Amino acid sequence: MKAARFYEPHKPLVIEDVPKPKPGYGEVLVRVEAAGVCHTELHFLDGVLDLGVRPITLGHEIAGVVEEVGDGVSDVRPGDRVVVYYYVGCGRCRYCLVGEENLCENPKAEYGFISDGGFAEYVKVPARNVVKLPDNIPFEQAAPIGCSVTTAIHATKKASPKVGEYVVVYGVGGVGFALIQYNKLVGAKVIAVGRRDEKLEKARELGADYIVNAAREDVVKKVLSITGGRGADVVYELVGSKETFSNSIKMLAKKGRIVVIGYTGELVSVNPLDIVVKEATIIGSVGNTLQELIEAVNLVAEGKIKIVVDDVVSLDRINEALERLRRGQVIGRVVVKPR
Ligand code: ZN
Ligand code: ZN
Repeated sequence: MKAARFYEPHKPLVIEDVPKPKPGYGEVLVRVEAAGVCHTELHFLDGVLDLGVRPITLGHEIAGVVEEVGDGVSDVRPGDRVVVYYYVGCGRCRYCLVGEENLCENPKAEYGFISDGGFAEYVKVPARNVVKLPDNIPFEQAAPIGCSVTTAIHATKKASPKVGEYVVVYGVGGVGFALIQYNKLVGAKVIAVGRRDEKLEKARELGADYIVNAAREDVVKKVLSITGGRGADVVYELVGSKETFSNSIKMLAKKGRIVVIGYTGELVSVNPLDIVVKEATIIGSVGNTLQELIEAVNLVAEGKIKIVVDDVVSLDRINEALERLRRGQVIGRVVVKPR
């Protein structure tokens, strides 16, 4: 089967033939119909993220059809339309035992990170890792649910915004769009910050109450003015640069929470006094739980969260898609169709 493989940083992904996997006991073989292209892949290519497994088939936002099931699988059948949960926890550590497989101390698999993922014609996963898709969600829209919507739900739960609180979505990519919609659902007032008008317009369409263009406006000043000088109660930091982190601290209200989701490899600095006097909380957020994926699929099926798909491309064009993402030209997600 064809797969797009990562060999080393600063080199394009290599499209090559690899053996088609065979599902073992308790596993299913998913024929990939769509796989979302995420910033994570750029982090691999840039050498910012290195989990030590190479070569590897990247792609962790995966939707498709179950083609074959291994022995011992009873609740999933060939022909089922599914989206994949990309973590396989050990099931025994203190995190797995409460459903936090995203923090597992000894993960058995993580598709597109340490295990072969969805930029291929097929992927093999435990039956427990597929969530069935309602018919009203097309594959192109289903794939990005697996990371963008789930990451947004997980991050929002970390910050627990209350009705009427001001939240800043600092970065308007796929996760940002989902954050805007989910935070509107929980009753927050949303300020979206980005650098491109097309993306900010989309942010407004999805429900953002205010938009700020960081390319020509002073983000801190603008957020302070929107919030009547008090600052934002929550900042979702989706960029993770020295500049954006420093701005996040400055625009934060007393008792505010910064949820760190993005990273760039840059070191950030903060004066501890700013955290002290604001009684600020800085929270990390990584991935999501299986329960959050189920919640995400339901929200999309009900039309409460919309998935923004920029383009659908063949596997051969994946490097081109990554280049567009790097240049900031992608609005939402590019989705790869491997077959
Ligand atoms: Zn575990
Ligand atoms: Zn992702």
